[in-house]
Amino acid sequence: MQPIESTFGRGGLRPDSGDYGQLDHRDLYRLPWTLPDNAISWLEPTSQCNLSCDGCYRANVRDSHKSIGQIKAELEIFKRLRRCDSISIAGGDPLLHPEIVEIVRLIAADGLKPVVNTNGLTLTKDLLRELKKAGVTGFTFHIDSKQGRPHWKGKNEIELNELRLQYAEMLAEVGGISCALNSTVYEDTLMYVPDIVEWAEKHIDIVHVVVFIAFRATVPELPFDWFAGGKKIEMGPLPYSTREARRVNILSTDMVNVIRKRFPDFQPCAFLNGTEKPDSFKWLLTGRVGARGKIYGYVGSKFMEMMQALHHLLYGRYLAYAKPLLLRKGRTMLLLSPLDRGMSNAARGYLGEVFRNPYRLFERLHYQSIMIIQPVDFLADGSQNMCDGCPDITVWNDRLVWSCRLEEQLQFGCFVRSVPKVNDEEVRPESER
Ligand code: SF4
Repeated sequence: MQPIESTFGRGGLRPDSGDYGQLDHRDLYRLPWTLPDNAISWLEPTSQCNLSCDGCYRANVRDSHKSIGQIKAELEIFKRLRRCDSISIAGGDPLLHPEIVEIVRLIAADGLKPVVNTNGLTLTKDLLRELKKAGVTGFTFHIDSKQGRPHWKGKNEIELNELRLQYAEMLAEVGGISCALNSTVYEDTLMYVPDIVEWAEKHIDIVHVVVFIAFRATVPELPFDWFAGGKKIEMGPLPYSTREARRVNILSTDMVNVIRKRFPDFQPCAFLNGTEKPDSFKWLLTGRVGARGKIYGYVGSKFMEMMQALHHLLYGRYLAYAKPLLLRKGRTMLLLSPLDRGMSNAARGYLGEVFRNPYRLFERLHYQSIMIIQPVDFLADGSQNMCDGCPDITVWNDRLVWSCRLEEQLQFGCFVRSVPKVNDEEVRPESER
């Protein structure tokens, strides 16, 4: 097949086959998440935000807070249509919603785990304590260098680790709350991914999850016409459309490759495939066991399969955002070594270290997740490779829709189709050419 990338340039498509680095999806565990039975769902109480991040999917709308009645109705729809373990409370920035504490309380009262996805700007210790009392399970702080953050402008991803640490320490001080940090990854920040991975290793005791999301937007180089229903439309009004030439085809495996240059053993264990491409890694999960500044190993696919299956057996839903209390039981997890090759390597690595330095026997071992997300890919035939079993599904007009493309529903009443542009020469009858 012709290498499409060389035809359409750096902002466009990738070859339809291959180029997935050293990973074979058949060696990894396919996370069992589906549309009606998933680990996560996505609630947006507001689309107002106090930052304007480069890669944001949502239009920033002032005073767009949903009423508690509306939020209750959306939660009812989730309950009716979808099992899940946790609800990501996103937006916009959900901390701007005047009733955020009540929203967290509502979700927790339903036996679900409320996880606040925020840029953290308005989080104070008092608010954090209130949210904890209301039942918050975790926070995902979105921090990267293209947010125009006051006091952090011009800082790179390495310098921003200081801010990441401030939030992680704030949660640790209050205690019992899961801490996730997420960054959008752009062409010029891809090289910093290993620096964040390394920083997270140093703080494995208080940083439980690290998430990297590849930047996506529609760019002029994409060789498509865009249709909403039967009508040709312009993508310009959507927040994720740009007229600049930008790289929008970073793959999960690009991030793995760059991580492996510094950490050759880095090994994902589980994934979600694409709706069009079974061998693409839309969500790619790595679990590692270690102590502060020292990783002993990466869990294998069997470990993740056991965790997901066991949680579903016991609680009727797949696991997301395990509690910090569980994540610091790394040593107990090593007991699963006979059942999982990755865990057995980790146990061997740990025992080797203990042999060299017996004091290691007294250190606490922690489990940390690294999730790499590759949002929509546009394929050469116009099909769109979405995440199969999308966890970030939200409610729109009483239906479940992809949250990353909600703006299409808002502006056009449907998701937009991409149709390969037709060369005039090809459509004109031969007699007229
Ligand atoms: S389909 Fe969109 S919303 Fe769903 S997981 Fe993928 S990127 Fe996220």
